[in-house]
Amino acid sequence: MSDTTAGTAEPGHTIETVPVTRLGNGHTLELTVHRVVGARPGPTLVAFGGIHGDEAMGPEEVRRLVSSVDPAELSGTLVAVPVANPYAYDAMSRFTPQDGLNLNRIFPGDPGGSVTEQLAAALAEIMLQGDHFIDFHSSGLYSTVEYSYLMDDGREMATSFGAPLLYHHAPYEGTSNAWAIKNGISSTVCELGGGGQLTDAFLAKAVRQGRNMLKALGMLDGEPETLVERQTVMTELVTLRPTKGGAMLSHFTPDRLGEVIKGGTVLGQVVDPYTFDVVEELVAPFDSNILVLTREGYTRTTPGDYGFMVGNAGTTTTVAELFGR
Ligand SMILES: [Zn+2]
Repeated sequence: MSDTTAGTAEPGHTIETVPVTRLGNGHTLELTVHRVVGARPGPTLVAFGGIHGDEAMGPEEVRRLVSSVDPAELSGTLVAVPVANPYAYDAMSRFTPQDGLNLNRIFPGDPGGSVTEQLAAALAEIMLQGDHFIDFHSSGLYSTVEYSYLMDDGREMATSFGAPLLYHHAPYEGTSNAWAIKNGISSTVCELGGGGQLTDAFLAKAVRQGRNMLKALGMLDGEPETLVERQTVMTELVTLRPTKGGAMLSHFTPDRLGEVIKGGTVLGQVVDPYTFDVVEELVAPFDSNILVLTREGYTRTTPGDYGFMVGNAGTTTTVAELFGR
């Protein structure tokens, strides 16, 4: 934790590399860390992208947001790791190729452990520089998503980031977010875009919403705007995963994210590309469902993949209700 870093460094945008380990191929695995030091003192926000290497929107969202910030307009410091798992990013994989681990389930890692464990340890250390933390995720290669995590101590971040859907829950063990909470760092996780679907719109949102959050944190001048009329807080969220691979035919294209859907509605079908038979249907499970993650009309799928995500529309609340005002 640090409160005021400006004053100890000259205002400007610098790039550092943090060595993590030496790989068997002779390459040094290192993290590239951007540091934007503002002209005025203020808090430190740490931002990560690409903890999951198949979520290529995150690195680009971080790149565009960081590039949009002029040190002259900034109070405090922005510390950003645009690609938190470089080998997973290169392989377009959720898991690190060297050890098959999910980086976002093993925080705070182990500096004496495997590649992913060492990466997590280095990232966990970088996070401790922050007063606030945001993790940029997206959907993977074939689906798209839009919601943010609402944590008890990250309320201001989640509301000012302005996603129309928020998910309130205890963080999963081993996530960067859980590590933030353990260390008193207020945090949110944004799930924005993915799968090459509505890409420009989601990238624009990352910058607009991210800058609005910087205003709320006192890092950019101006009052934060209310970006959406209503933020719905979900308390139940499920992932519908196909158990069979093949052609996924989605009945709900990404322009319908956030839509409320009646229980029992078929969200998509898995079609066997060899025989053309419908081998599976994915059905909205709650009486009333909010569409959180979906796919283009046709995408390829594999067993256990992200098919759809829906929230229970019957158990939603609002930020004001949740926090008692
Ligand atoms: Zn992710």
